[in-house]
Amino acid sequence: MSNEFNAFTMAQRQFDAVAELLQLEDGIRQLLRSPQREYHFTIPIRMDDGAVKVFQGFRVQHNDARGPAKGGIRFHPQETIDTVRALATWMTWKCAVVDIPLGGGKGGVICDPHNLSPREQEALCRGWVRQVSKNIGPINDVPAPDVMTNPQHMVWILDEYEKLAGGHYPGMITGKPVEVGGSLGRTEATGYGVVFTVREALQRMDLPIEGIRASIQGFGNVAQYAAKLLIELGATVVAVSCWDQQDQTSYTYRKTDGIDTEFLLSITNRFGAIDKHKAEAAGYQRLEADAWLEQDVQILIPAALENQITADNVERIHANVKILAEGANGPTTPEADQVLKRRGVFVIPDFLANAGGVTCSYFEQVQCNTNFFWPKDEVLSRLDQKMTTAFHAVADLAEETGEYMRDAAYMIAIQRVATACHLRGWA
Ligand code: NAD
Repeated sequence: MSNEFNAFTMAQRQFDAVAELLQLEDGIRQLLRSPQREYHFTIPIRMDDGAVKVFQGFRVQHNDARGPAKGGIRFHPQETIDTVRALATWMTWKCAVVDIPLGGGKGGVICDPHNLSPREQEALCRGWVRQVSKNIGPINDVPAPDVMTNPQHMVWILDEYEKLAGGHYPGMITGKPVEVGGSLGRTEATGYGVVFTVREALQRMDLPIEGIRASIQGFGNVAQYAAKLLIELGATVVAVSCWDQQDQTSYTYRKTDGIDTEFLLSITNRFGAIDKHKAEAAGYQRLEADAWLEQDVQILIPAALENQITADNVERIHANVKILAEGANGPTTPEADQVLKRRGVFVIPDFLANAGGVTCSYFEQVQCNTNFFWPKDEVLSRLDQKMTTAFHAVADLAEETGEYMRDAAYMIAIQRVATACHLRGWA
């Protein structure tokens, strides 16, 4: 058991290494290594068959020195408190690196929603918020959708919270449908955010985006919008990949003169799986799973899953690749990261590259709290501004100190949180 992967141990190790680089004092290290608050509770649900089943729920607030905690709620059968702690910690750094006035939180329920009816899921959402309603809310902790939770779950949570609070508080949760206080632009936000950072990286390298070639892993929410914007900006996306449920494997789809996003979307299901027969009939080559990473391109965007670029396949990355922008969370293993560092690939780390989603959630909260909603163009242009500024702050630091982009991003984020804690007199 002792040598099993533990996400929280990893998050603490990452923090320790950066705390050392920043020469943080002992008190602040102790404060930031662990969550400030944790809520563990049971949620009894009357199931459809009449029996009562008791679920285990969590909410972890890692740090709120810069503002209310922010982070998703996961429904997962293998959820553990250490996973929730790690994810809450990473949310603190993600909000800080893009400089939004929020802290880090995460929540979860140990359950498998595949085995729960919609009524049972609704009861679970309402039961979850009843247990933490005194500890979350627009001014202290704002949840959002995450693994296996969706906008409908958010509305059930909002509705129960408002019943308890006796008023309208749409800013207590984000990721809501637009009809109930959601923000325009949220669907595009993460994929577009990735591309804003890529555009800026190219500009720093003096490379025009027109004619640049890219290859993307995945064809879900993040990958679709990343591909769309790259093409709009003049780049060519030569390959995307996806998981094929029927064959229980993944494939890369390549078109050397460039994919047509609209066409591919028309043959992709809601899980981001492309119809292989229709793709092949339209002239797309179907290649094996990892083929996306050995394409002759300048830009790689892993936007599917964690642990995809590993010691086993990192050497297959083409020599022409200049930028690797991590759309997914944790797509690169530490061993592969060392190889990328050695080869001089410019890595835009996950918690910076994919922060467009949380930035737009912050905009949703601002719009709800002021009860004034912005047009989509305004949301996306504010997003561009935030991502661009955040990217250059990290790239400038990396250039000045000679640190790897990932380390520079952590240095900025952790220093910002440490400063807020100092100013408040916490450490
Ligand atoms: P999604 O479920 O919409 O799409 C996932 C895509 O990955 C699908 O096309 C699926 O077929 C593909 N896929 C799954 N397994 C694969 C495999 N083994 N090989 C190749 N392709 C595979 O998910 P998403 O919302 O696009 O999220 C993708 C990643 O980005 C995840 O790591 C997620 O945590 C991260 N992320 C998403 C957001 C967001 O706002 N959506 C924000 C931050 C981070």
